[in-house]
Amino acid sequence: IERIVIVGTGHAGTQLAASLRQDGYAGAIALIGDETDLPYHKPPLSKAFLKGGEAELQLLRPEEFYVKNRVELMLGRRVAAIGPAEHRVALDDGSTIAYDRLVLATGARPRLPALPGIDLGGVVALRNRADGLMLRAATVGAEDVVVIGGGFIGMELAATFAALGRKVTVIEAAPRILGRAVAPQISEHLAASAVAAGVRLLTATTLRGLEGDQGRVSHVVTANGERIAAQVVVVGIGVLPNQELAEAAGIACANGIVVDRSFRTSHPDIFAIGDVASYEHWMAARVLRLESVQNATDQARAVAKSLLGMPADYRAVPWFWSDQGDAKLQMVGLSFDADEHVVRGESGAGSFSVFHYRAGRLLAIDSINRAADHMLGRKMLAAGFSPPPAAVRDLSVDLRALAE
Ligand code: FAD
Repeated sequence: IERIVIVGTGHAGTQLAASLRQDGYAGAIALIGDETDLPYHKPPLSKAFLKGGEAELQLLRPEEFYVKNRVELMLGRRVAAIGPAEHRVALDDGSTIAYDRLVLATGARPRLPALPGIDLGGVVALRNRADGLMLRAATVGAEDVVVIGGGFIGMELAATFAALGRKVTVIEAAPRILGRAVAPQISEHLAASAVAAGVRLLTATTLRGLEGDQGRVSHVVTANGERIAAQVVVVGIGVLPNQELAEAAGIACANGIVVDRSFRTSHPDIFAIGDVASYEHWMAARVLRLESVQNATDQARAVAKSLLGMPADYRAVPWFWSDQGDAKLQMVGLSFDADEHVVRGESGAGSFSVFHYRAGRLLAIDSINRAADHMLGRKMLAAGFSPPPAAVRDLSVDLRALAE
């Protein structure tokens, strides 16, 4: 292989460039992305970045990395089309680039609700640095912030804005926050700590629309007619995979670009990784699209091996974190289809974990301020070890010793 082209300079694409060199690939690497910033960490955007005044970007790699590793970094360039038959990608300026192997790491973009007023000024969906800067600017002088969506990004932003002294309201359509992702005890705890920080939380609430004044948002209106003041509205109701390039090229897509265990798409020379890739997960035996730094990074490491013809049995244990004020949520494993949920620790004391089981087998652990459970969980799940529920409930049992 002489030339590998990577589309997307996020966590997945950037790690892939690094892994290819680490694994000894000596050919050309082009890393193309439509953002103009050097590749950077996205998670701080909903946390420290908003607080940080002049806080700089946390770069994924120092600038010298790309030169030293002969990665041709093409920033501010959008790939407009793929020609699988010609083995070329076309950029938006009409130029084309040849590849032997193409990797799509195009990520995802925020989904916007179809609400009247959604295009008013002051309404922001946060995905990249440009959005973060827009949000920071919109927040200056704003008193009232409404967050649409009680998911991870929404709840992180709510905590951040509350810490910045703003009046924050979160509107969540489901009966509880983070409902699709975590155990009810975890939702309850995070909801209570948001409320304690001054956040107004409206669950089971939908919106009728947004109202504005001279093109800028002034209120959101709930389905039952309450008008809530808002000079800033942040939308965090989930994402859509950036799969259109692949679709237009005839590559199979279904809630993401469909890939096999080596991250190969329906076209043999085209691969996909990260938030955009949909695949049958080894742990859950179901087709998934995960959205996390871990997933993007570990898939990049694995696809590097597939591209270079090295054995690559992808068996990374998925994990995730979300910092919401004082609460550090960490998740490991996949809790789908769990039939037993065992609590370790005291939820009242703000430090506990929920261990999810199916038929006596450990599937996943959600932890609040219990990093040791999380770290041990990563090891236990990788080794296929399930601690007995009775031992998990009993804080006097040393799970680490049990697992050894
Ligand atoms: P991305 O990072 O989205 O990168 C894709 C890149 O491809 C983008 O730069 C995009 O502009 C570019 N692109 C798309 N189409 C084209 C094209 N046609 N041509 C050129 N370039 C293109 N994860 C965690 O694990 N923990 C967290 O706490 C956490 N917090 C987060 C907070 C925020 C505010 C956000 C937005 C995300 C957070 N995530 C978190 C999720 C994590 O950032 C993503 O899972 C990760 O960025 C996925 O990496 P990726 O490389 O697949 O996609």
